[in-house]
Amino acid sequence: MMTREDLRQLADFECRANEFAISFYFQPGAPKDKSHREEGIQAKELVRKTIQELRASGRSSKPIQDLERILRIAEGLHGNEGFGKVVFSCSDRNVWREFNVPPSSFSTRLFVNRRFHLKPLAALFSEYPKLWVALADRQNARVLEVEFGKTRQLISFSNPMPRHGRSDGFGGYDAGHAQRHKKDEVRRHYRELAEFLKNGVSRRQFDAIVFGCNDVNWPDLQSQLHPDVAKGTLGHFSGEIAAMADERIVTEALRIAQESLRKHHYALLGETLDGARANGRGVTGLRRVLRALELGEIDTLLMSQDYSARAVECTNCRHLDSHVVAYCPVCGHATRELEDVCEMLVPIAVRNNLGLVLLPRDETLDKVGNIAALLRFRADRNTNHLLAAS
Ligand SMILES: [Zn+2]
Repeated sequence: MMTREDLRQLADFECRANEFAISFYFQPGAPKDKSHREEGIQAKELVRKTIQELRASGRSSKPIQDLERILRIAEGLHGNEGFGKVVFSCSDRNVWREFNVPPSSFSTRLFVNRRFHLKPLAALFSEYPKLWVALADRQNARVLEVEFGKTRQLISFSNPMPRHGRSDGFGGYDAGHAQRHKKDEVRRHYRELAEFLKNGVSRRQFDAIVFGCNDVNWPDLQSQLHPDVAKGTLGHFSGEIAAMADERIVTEALRIAQESLRKHHYALLGETLDGARANGRGVTGLRRVLRALELGEIDTLLMSQDYSARAVECTNCRHLDSHVVAYCPVCGHATRELEDVCEMLVPIAVRNNLGLVLLPRDETLDKVGNIAALLRFRADRNTNHLLAAS
């Protein structure tokens, strides 16, 4: 499993002249459909084509060896059990990293550049919550942890309902009593689960939680939850959980989590755009985003999934500029052209722990240049405020 530290190391990597950083992304199709075969073929074609291009341009053989190794991997993937595969390599520096990652919004792509292409992964890390899934019926309970596409069971217990045979026969008082007793038992059972979840939330063992529980039982279970657990609850799905396979449970839980994440992303975008209009905690467009980045103002970067823009970086002070100019406007040294500013922007976001949200392209995003940032603070405003106070 890939860790944030792995991502950080990859973000620090930069090639020297005549070296190549190769990034390979493989996105499997849904299992049981034919498209995963097509994805596999597409991946191989992609690698072969790049090998040909490198050969034609008379480049050194080292990146070609890397690509041939990637080609062999692509040939053996066969859908990769539903996982995405990413490979980062630079043979000139003996770098070879290979990871399985949860299938996500990235498509099968190959990048040969000065730095590793990290955009889809950085978004995944900044946004993939450590999710718990709590399942309960009136007698059984289980909790699963779903993190980065891996599932493990944390606890499973049963509180079998006491048999209330004989006394029922007398009707009246005894039957009512048995009924209440049964209710108490169920409540105690839910409370046991609620206690486990409360401990989890207080130890920060999960970021968000989804419940699987029959609709008729949900209000009773919900009433037992600690407020902090309730706050982290993204939703619940209904079903006979005792008969439900793990695979189906995880699919249901992720569907709820992703829906809630999608809402959260649009709320962030709304907040950013409002902030930008009011000269508050938002900026839009590459020029202003880069300025905010250099001022250390950014909390979360938002961009369309396919966002890409030319820019330059200064070879001396590392200033980034959206105008493609030969000399750095800050220090006067020569600049280097970036085919895609994200190549530089994303590693900076990773190193500084900034949020990164990728959104599907739409009219709203188009209007603001497909890139925006939610700010932690606004440097100019703070300065004005200080000046006014002094
Ligand atoms: Zn400079």
